[in-house]
Amino acid sequence: MVSTKGKDIRELALKYYGIHSSEWKTEGEPGDYQVWVEGKGCRVTDSTGKTYIDGFAGLMYKNIGYGRKEIADVAYEQMKKLTSVPTSSPAPATESQVLLAEKLAQITPGSLSKTTYTSGGSESVETAVKIAKAYHKLNGQPGRYKLISRRGTYHGYTHLTMALMAQSPFTAAYEPLVYGVKQVSNVKCYRCDFNLTYPECKLECARELERMILAEGAETVAAVVMDPVSHSDIVTPPKPEYWPMIRSICDKYGVLLIDDEVVTAFGRTGKMFGTENWDVVPDIMVTAKGITSGYLPLGAVTVKEEVAEKFGAGFMHIITFGGLPAPCAAALKNIEIIEREKLPENAASVGAYLLEQLKALMKRHVCIGDVRGIGLMTQTELVANRETKEPLPREVTPQLRKRVQDNGLIARIRSGMISIFPPLTFTRAEADEAVGIVDKTLTEMEKDGKLPS
Ligand code: PLP
Repeated sequence: MVSTKGKDIRELALKYYGIHSSEWKTEGEPGDYQVWVEGKGCRVTDSTGKTYIDGFAGLMYKNIGYGRKEIADVAYEQMKKLTSVPTSSPAPATESQVLLAEKLAQITPGSLSKTTYTSGGSESVETAVKIAKAYHKLNGQPGRYKLISRRGTYHGYTHLTMALMAQSPFTAAYEPLVYGVKQVSNVKCYRCDFNLTYPECKLECARELERMILAEGAETVAAVVMDPVSHSDIVTPPKPEYWPMIRSICDKYGVLLIDDEVVTAFGRTGKMFGTENWDVVPDIMVTAKGITSGYLPLGAVTVKEEVAEKFGAGFMHIITFGGLPAPCAAALKNIEIIEREKLPENAASVGAYLLEQLKALMKRHVCIGDVRGIGLMTQTELVANRETKEPLPREVTPQLRKRVQDNGLIARIRSGMISIFPPLTFTRAEADEAVGIVDKTLTEMEKDGKLPS
């Protein structure tokens, strides 16, 4: 039990703390809250002293793992020197802000070169959309205001980003959502919206984008907002033709391509940036999360030179804590570690190994319908019937989540899908351990008759 100056933290949490996406209980057991006290590498320890593998890297952001003193040191040095900038004229900047922008220009593909900061992913997506809309006005096409995203894809939980997702039950409580956002299908080959199979499908999911642009009127569409590989629903690495097709459709109709790399950037897919897997350069790239590996809050929006040059007279936008000097210094050190330790390469090789081991479980567990992934983004989908792909009964998922965690692995488990996105420092031994926990849990639940066997 954690006790600080005689206070029981779990009891206080029950009374005062409204945790995101959790029940706001005012009564219950202090044990309803799990209080975390320490992290090291890929492991986290709670206040009872139990240690777990963090198979979801916090919330898909702890790319360099926990407990890096180097990051704490640079943040401390920066904070001692300067914690924020005064509202000076002309435009205020600090060394770490500028050097990070330079670094992002060096490592992002193509002519992506100008970066502006926010304090996280949702704000970065919102900022990118503002840039896209303003760009079209400055470019003599003021009628372009609509956005096209993919159904069920998570881009954040602010009002606009919820509209990009537009997926009940996550957004139902907040409707009506923001006007002018349209959706096309996502890539999800195992449960294709068109009931087609690759390659006969001829990438219907990509071609739907062209139909949507034409139906809306190309002259009204400002931007397409997509993430390289979605994680919120079915995790499916797109086929090789998909992203090049999306790029060429956007080019054909003068629509800007906003690449939401909040989860995929900084190595997760096995490349530094997700769209590099398909040699595609977006017009605007959005990053956050892994930019500091979650050591401090930061988001970044990096735009192509051709887009940036339209804003010579200014981009009207203010986010007070967007790009504070210490998070920027932490991001620079974080990127240095990612490059030095070759973490994208590690994500590619350990990710391939993890995927192989998870696929091997299919031989022993008929409840596994599909295993898919790219880099260190893997998803194992459990089904009630492998032949028909009938989903698991709803009540099984919470039991599965609890058992996997009790056995020592934190993963995201929703709708019978086990998503493992660990820190990018993950080793083969840790992958074996995580797969062992999944195996053990499935075996236990099969014995109890909770899963088909
Ligand atoms: N975009 C994607 C793809 C995300 O996964 C997330 C968060 O998970 C966001 C945007 C929003 O980021 P934040 O929670 O930092 O606002």
